[in-house]
Amino acid sequence: MNITKHMQPMNKTQLLHEGKAKKVWATEDPDLIIQEFKDDATAFNNKKRGSIADKGVTNNAISCRLFTMLGENGIPTHLVDKLNDRDMLCKSLDIIKVEVVTRNIAAGSLVRRYGFAEGTVLEKPIIELYLKNDDLDDPLMNEDHAVALGIATYEEVAVLKELAAKINALLKPWFAERKLRLVDFKLEFGRHKGQILLGDEISPDTCRFWDAETGEKLDKDRFRLDLGGVEDAYSEVKKRVLEL
Ligand code: UDP
Repeated sequence: MNITKHMQPMNKTQLLHEGKAKKVWATEDPDLIIQEFKDDATAFNNKKRGSIADKGVTNNAISCRLFTMLGENGIPTHLVDKLNDRDMLCKSLDIIKVEVVTRNIAAGSLVRRYGFAEGTVLEKPIIELYLKNDDLDDPLMNEDHAVALGIATYEEVAVLKELAAKINALLKPWFAERKLRLVDFKLEFGRHKGQILLGDEISPDTCRFWDAETGEKLDKDRFRLDLGGVEDAYSEVKKRVLEL
């Protein structure tokens, strides 16, 4: 723990929320929370459940590395410190209930919904907004829905899309150097003391990565589609993210 960033040892005081892949804990400091990464895996809005050995450790390491890189490049994020293998100390956020998906290559629901051939390289990245609501199956939406629902203002949605585009422009070449194609990814944001910060995680749970040479899928699709080698794929991404 870096003593210069926060002088007190940080303890989990109360479980605030248990999600599919993480627990969120309160700390002694109301401005800080701890994200604890679990090994549990779900897909298709909880219809498929399982566990991926050491996923929590892997995703915490990957997320902390990526949030650090993004922070160094001017993206405001909730990361304060990597506390240990599974725990990430973060600024507490008032989460904006919008999932922002950015796509460089057609895959997943873009293929299912619009008929793109999987692997089609998009001339310009597509940014999509989804309502973060499991009961409604996270429906696709636009700015007008977000404002009508009282989730965010038009100005805030514009900031989310701008940040997503900047993050994509940083991540794409960064992963390319590590021989990974960044196919698509999902981001979440929140408000903290009047500022919008990047929250949640960036990991093989929330991105699609294809090996640049073989095209092999190295992300949660291995779990979703029962392709096998799930743990190895996550470890391979961790190795490439941490070793350079
Ligand atoms: N994604 C996510 N959480 C969600 C939905 C999507 O992290 O609740 C990520 C997913 O891993 C992929 C991208 O967002 O990297 C686009 O997902 P898509 O819309 O293609 O949905 P899917 O095919 O995974 O159902």
